[in-house]
Amino acid sequence: MTTKKRYERPVIKRLESNMPAKFGGRSNFEAVTHIENIAVGELISRFGSPLFVISEKRIRKLYKQARQAFETRYPRVQFAWSYKTNYLSAVCNVYHQEGSWAEVVSGFEYDKAISNGVEGSKIIFNGPDKTEEDLKKAITNQSLIHIDHLEELYMLQEIARSTRQRPKVAIRVNMDTGVYPMWDRFGFNYENGQAWDALNKIMYSGNMDLMGLHTHIGTFMLSPSAYAVAASKLAQLARMVQQKYDHEIKYIDMGGGFASRNTLKGAYLPGQDTNPHFDDFAEAISSALINSDYRPKTPPLLILETGRALIDDAAWLLGTVIANKRLSDGKRTTIVDFGVNVLFTSFWYDHRISPAQPFTAYTEDTVMYGPLCMNIDVIRENVSMPLLNKGDYVVVHSVGAYNMTQWMQFITLRPKVIMIDTEGNPHVIRQNEVLANLSSMEQIPPHLATFEL
Ligand SMILES: *Cc1c(COP(=O)(O)O)cnc(C)c1O
Repeated sequence: MTTKKRYERPVIKRLESNMPAKFGGRSNFEAVTHIENIAVGELISRFGSPLFVISEKRIRKLYKQARQAFETRYPRVQFAWSYKTNYLSAVCNVYHQEGSWAEVVSGFEYDKAISNGVEGSKIIFNGPDKTEEDLKKAITNQSLIHIDHLEELYMLQEIARSTRQRPKVAIRVNMDTGVYPMWDRFGFNYENGQAWDALNKIMYSGNMDLMGLHTHIGTFMLSPSAYAVAASKLAQLARMVQQKYDHEIKYIDMGGGFASRNTLKGAYLPGQDTNPHFDDFAEAISSALINSDYRPKTPPLLILETGRALIDDAAWLLGTVIANKRLSDGKRTTIVDFGVNVLFTSFWYDHRISPAQPFTAYTEDTVMYGPLCMNIDVIRENVSMPLLNKGDYVVVHSVGAYNMTQWMQFITLRPKVIMIDTEGNPHVIRQNEVLANLSSMEQIPPHLATFEL
């Protein structure tokens, strides 16, 4: 007996650039000689090597793409720039000019947003470590305080009682979205009832304004469906609050975490070919919200704290080849002038690296080391690269997220960061460190001031 073959409905899905081969697209082997029409060599001779380069044009373009993806699907959308992803003031201000609020996770970041000129009421204050002083400031400024744990909730109640001010609050909710390991260390759990309990405590206290519900389900998320689950669960909580208290939740904040075009270590195909787009995330979140049973008079504002996916692909790291070497087994190695202290994300990404000048057709598997005198200083464990010579330049792609905040002053000094504006003019937005910067923070006790050798 023959059985009929199962019918599979055909689907059409956009593929970026060329069809990837087993080891990714050919684009990996193209020389990248210019960034925003300025020659890499010219940038390096003017500003030094290594050098972070950020494109204002790209930032604005990515932001517009993201905004459009959500605004075409949901009526009320607000982005809040995640400071910890990249808090260089020039970068933050591009987002603020585009209309983005600020999302901060510490007192320091909060103060930075204020000093950048963000109105208090447009700052979202997340994170598990808000001091009493931080909270008082945030309450006075009418910022949106996202409560992480009960101690914080009680501290807020205390401050509200003693100062007779009403904090504007939301709770952070963690939940099972089908992605494991679960991110359950921040906020209140949905499934075990903690989140509902915290909401009741807030409503019963009577001295706080419950404004919204927040979640941030993970980072570098590759599955839009997880956001759909999260959005449905938040909408369900909003409905429960509405039913029990006749109180409308004003916003649903879906956090950040959308993947950029980067490639996670161990991924089979390059991220630029396979990672979901803003449209995929927007579709998942918006449908979950509009299909939910929560039906307030005004649809809640949808807040997005997208960081990585907005900035990663708008920045490059330029560097210079210091030397080539063979390991004891003959394996080729190339030493470049930037290490993991500067390119922190090389711990979890296989960054795409391009030569910045023409090269011959011959390529070889290469280990790329940074300049640190440390075994961990590996930029790429194994990358098929054209042969580079001492003094050649390389361009590392998608470095805008988490490098310029997590970088370490270790062994070498941190390099300059420049931004190329929309007219093509480069501006230094952060100076390179010099010895004096570090010395200015140190103090030598008098008895250690001198020595003889
Ligand atoms: C880090 C963080 C973000 C931004 O995450 P990305 O992965 O950079 O998009 C947003 N919200 C909160 C609460 C965060 O901690």
